[in-house]
This record gives sequence, structure tokens and C-alpha cells, in this order.
Amino acid sequence: MKYLVLLAVLVIAYMVWRSARLENRKQDRRPPPPGLPQEMVSCPVCGLHLPQPDAVKGSDGLFYCSNEHRLLRGG
Ligand SMILES: [Zn+2]
Repeated sequence: MKYLVLLAVLVIAYMVWRSARLENRKQDRRPPPPGLPQEMVSCPVCGLHLPQPDAVKGSDGLFYCSNEHRLLRGG
């Protein structure tokens, strides 16, 4: 019976030690920088997906991957 108590104490000590270790590891790990959600658009000419700020907006309201493709569509 004495050994059972000793075993229980050891198990509890191990669990506390393990959770403390996990807590430390959690603090070490830096959260990923919150990237701004970028809206992706696809070029209607070639189908390329690119972030909207990088796209070229045509007069038709569509987003193109490049000025060449915009002109190709006459936008
Ligand atoms: Zn394109």
C-alpha cells in the first residue's frame, strides 16, 4: 500500500513536470504574425491567381495579372 502511494506521488509529480514543460514550450513558441487577409483574384486572360493589391484593375472592373493582359482584353 505504501508503494502505491509512492507511485501515485511519482505519477502526479511527473504530470506536473510535464505540464510545466509544455507550458514553457508554449511560451517559447511565438505565434505566427497575423497576416492581413488578402483577397485573391484571378486573371481572366491566363487564369493566374494573385493578391488583389498586386493585380491591375481594368475599366471593366476585372483584375488582371499584368498590364499586357489588361490591354489584351481591351480593359
Ligand atoms: Zn494574366
